[in-house]
Amino acid sequence: ARSLILMLLWLTSILVVSEGQHGTLLSSVFQAPTQVAIRLSRDPVSLLEGSTDFGHIVHKNPVAIMNPASTSDISVLVKFSNSLPIPFSVAARGEGHSVNGQSMAFGGVVVNMSSFRDSSTDNDGSGGILVTEKTAAPGVHYVDVGGGQRWIDVLHETMKRGLSPRSWTDYLYLTVGGTLSNAGISGQTFRFGPQIQNVYELDVVTGEGEEITCSREINSDLFYAVLGGLGQFGIIIRARIALAPAPTRVKWLSLLYDDFSVLSADQEKLISMNESVETNMPNYVEGSLLLNQSSMDLSFYPEADRPRITSLVQQNGIVYVLELAKYYTNDSHARVEQEVEELLSGLKFLSSFKFEKDVSYEEFLDRVHSVELVLRPQGLWDLPHPWLNMFVPKSRIMDFHDGVFKGILLNQTIPSGLVLVYPMNRNKWDDKMSAMIPDEDIFYVVSFLHTSTYDQVEAFKEQNQMVLQFCEEAGIQIKKYLPQNLTRKQWMDHFGDKWKLFQQRKVQYDPKHILSPGQAIFSH
Ligand code: FAD
Repeated sequence: ARSLILMLLWLTSILVVSEGQHGTLLSSVFQAPTQVAIRLSRDPVSLLEGSTDFGHIVHKNPVAIMNPASTSDISVLVKFSNSLPIPFSVAARGEGHSVNGQSMAFGGVVVNMSSFRDSSTDNDGSGGILVTEKTAAPGVHYVDVGGGQRWIDVLHETMKRGLSPRSWTDYLYLTVGGTLSNAGISGQTFRFGPQIQNVYELDVVTGEGEEITCSREINSDLFYAVLGGLGQFGIIIRARIALAPAPTRVKWLSLLYDDFSVLSADQEKLISMNESVETNMPNYVEGSLLLNQSSMDLSFYPEADRPRITSLVQQNGIVYVLELAKYYTNDSHARVEQEVEELLSGLKFLSSFKFEKDVSYEEFLDRVHSVELVLRPQGLWDLPHPWLNMFVPKSRIMDFHDGVFKGILLNQTIPSGLVLVYPMNRNKWDDKMSAMIPDEDIFYVVSFLHTSTYDQVEAFKEQNQMVLQFCEEAGIQIKKYLPQNLTRKQWMDHFGDKWKLFQQRKVQYDPKHILSPGQAIFSH
């Protein structure tokens, strides 16, 4: 009983201190210069939104939300914080689609980048809603977009000119600044690198409030720091993104396997094709698991085929899916059929389990949103998401499969959500950037995209912990993607040789540790 009382006293003291700090910070935030003060809001709905995210697990209250109308508003806010004896933290919030409080700022200010996106007039002319593509040199196109723009809007705008970014995420209702702070990965990454690899230039407001343009040529250290930098060094105001001529249609295939080693061999074969020699490369390669459980999503497949797919899964425990896309334009329709046939002829999937769709390019890229539209009305989109994302070196992917997919997942009573597994090429990533990947030429993305009821969250967290512990005990050198819940020591291990540089860059660009406190890297 005594230790319980001590624990309660300790908890109360934390709360009192925190509430006290909150009050002090609240009064100092509102003493900001008028230009900033008029953009701050304590409207309960906005505060609630700024204190939650797609994870629905972590909640941290900011003292205010800022709805900036220009870059200068953000810069003045950050400079003002720097000028205070106790600075307040500032977190850019894109769509709040992170899952562990990364876009939150306890006792600080959350900058609503979507308000910036919606402002049709932008004093600096550098953010705003306008998307304009330019031609840098014959055949080289790019687009300048505000950091608060969503990729879906970038897609629609660029498609009007017959152009498109080359590298995507699976879901497009994420902001440019939000994904570039991580990496931005999907089935195109094996070929074009992550989204951070497809950026020519950035405008950034640093942690000292300086507005700086950077690229591989100018202020390159800041450029490399910010890309994959988890919001630690600057707020991305504008990004210049590489574009290519857009296809119009997509052959979208789902091929089933009953053996993981055969699936991974085929995936690796596809991502290792030599672009300059083999013209018939796929444009997108992913993979996932079908697990024997009630939540299995078979919506891609014709209704008539679902019973036989279900029995295959029941028979096998796990069925492996290779997802493949081949883009084409309306005038190359005849050729693409032939190309797909050639591509498939070298693969070893279960021949009676080949499924194909022919969809528009925009429908293909926006595929997860159509799932969202089905789940939302059922209340299944806004549930907790105890996700775990990681990169696993190719040399250990079979051990990972045996220990985690077969050993842990199949023995759980909680239903797993979507589990993705697909390989990427290390040579498409620039090691100068802050994003971390395993030190092998090929590594796999493994994503456990669980959707949980509120009472299952702890069970999912335990399962995630078991996965991480398995990797540690088996000596599998994973790197976390969208890392969360790391101790200082784990952050140091995560960045490995780059930790020193990461720290130095923090001292240089955000010495008072103001930006993106929700990542909990420097706030322990
Ligand atoms: P937020 O959650 O708002 O912010 C995330 C972090 O970035 C915070 O630390 C924030 O402070 C910082 N930040 C936000 N904007 C800026 C800015 N302008 N400048 C500097 N820092 C900023 N990721 C992939 O790579 N591939 C996928 O296929 C993929 N699919 C997803 C599908 C769904 C349904 C969801 C919910 C997420 C998915 N993600 C994927 C993860 C997603 O890319 C990241 O969580 C991303 O950070 C979310 O973008 P956001 O705009 O919501 O950022």
